Amino acid sequence: AVTEREQSAPDWHADGLAHVWLPYAQMKTAPAPLPVAATRGSRIVLADGRELVDGVASWWTACHGYNHPHITSAVARQLATMPHVMLGGLLHEPAALLATRLAALLPGDLDRVFFTDSGSVAVEVAMKMAVQYWINTGVCGRKRFVAFRGGYHGDTTGTMAVCDPNEGMHRLFHGLLPEQIIADLPRDEETVAALDRLLAERADEIAGILVEPLVQGAGGMLFHDAAVLQRLRALADKHGTLLIFDEVFTGFGRTGTMFACEQAGVVPDILTLSKALTGGTMPLAATVASKRVFEAFWSDDPMHALMHGPTFMGNPLACAAANASLDLFAREPRLAQVAAIEAQLTEQLAPCRDLPGVVDVRVRGAIGAVELDAIDIPALKAHFVEAGVYVRPFGRIVYLTPAFTIGEADLARLTGAIFRVLSSR
Ligand code: PLP
Repeated sequence: AVTEREQSAPDWHADGLAHVWLPYAQMKTAPAPLPVAATRGSRIVLADGRELVDGVASWWTACHGYNHPHITSAVARQLATMPHVMLGGLLHEPAALLATRLAALLPGDLDRVFFTDSGSVAVEVAMKMAVQYWINTGVCGRKRFVAFRGGYHGDTTGTMAVCDPNEGMHRLFHGLLPEQIIADLPRDEETVAALDRLLAERADEIAGILVEPLVQGAGGMLFHDAAVLQRLRALADKHGTLLIFDEVFTGFGRTGTMFACEQAGVVPDILTLSKALTGGTMPLAATVASKRVFEAFWSDDPMHALMHGPTFMGNPLACAAANASLDLFAREPRLAQVAAIEAQLTEQLAPCRDLPGVVDVRVRGAIGAVELDAIDIPALKAHFVEAGVYVRPFGRIVYLTPAFTIGEADLARLTGAIFRVLSSR
């Protein structure tokens, strides 16, 4: 039977559903996507006028809330002068300014910025940089990466190979690329020794160690502490390999500091950024190299240049959005807001611990996760919508990664809805 709500869905929704291929969805059986008409602050406005409090911030990108006027007006100004020009042989002010500002914000000598347009491609570029770093310095055979169980770095061919293979999502594509090395994070004596041995035995083939610092996001909202990153830096140095931090998820305040690596006092050799780089408004990513890495490409030999150049890299609209987003970080108390969200999530998600089927509740910065023993995702999603919130569980995780500007009352609606929906399972 056609529900009243489906009847009220706009024509474009039904027409489009016949042609749009949606992500991560078995479209035959999955509930139809919600028709969304607008976004506003921490709210998603549906076509039928209902407003949902957004707990996801569009895959944790919209850190200033949706439609922040400082960002939208910066993009509008840029649109009037130069929506796009390629970076091949040209450089424009928005990209130049953004690279300069990122270099100043990032720790250590991470000061050479290569722009791309998605997190996956930023990681692909980091991998290419690392492989070519060794070739340019005259070392042959270092083409493999050590990545970690629980990790997620993207859906492209190269990045699938460095995701946790047990996670399942990319199972069909195993073997498409040469196997990468998936290890356990060095959390204790045993795992440190195992990684140390692995790096010693396979030093000649390893181009770099790749990790999401402090929080493994899409792999399950798994947390580790700063000591893990310090051990990785020490092991990379001991075995002479490169250390790459994927801060696509953690960058720009999500874990409580501007970049997660700051909490460990560790500077990687290469660092990737995307998602909240533009405040979640435009596709943009950056792979940032340290002096040591860039110097290996700075040469009289044309073959030492990095052969990569996405058509829309450093798009001026996206760079203008990113510059405006950095203005907001400078002038508004974002990190204090993250601290307040952390405190509220800690207090308000704690009661979920006592619910049946809850395995763990964990909070870090503006990330709250409730891990369950089993999950009926479609049913949960529907209950959340009925409760007036947008929460999108995955795997066995119900999580919140709200905008940093979310009000206390809206955040309480999200945590309250999670408690109620999980209580009634
Ligand atoms: N790396 C990390 C840590 C991520 O969380 C993601 C996306 O969730 C990616 C890379 C891939 O980014 P994108 O979806 O923009 O390709």
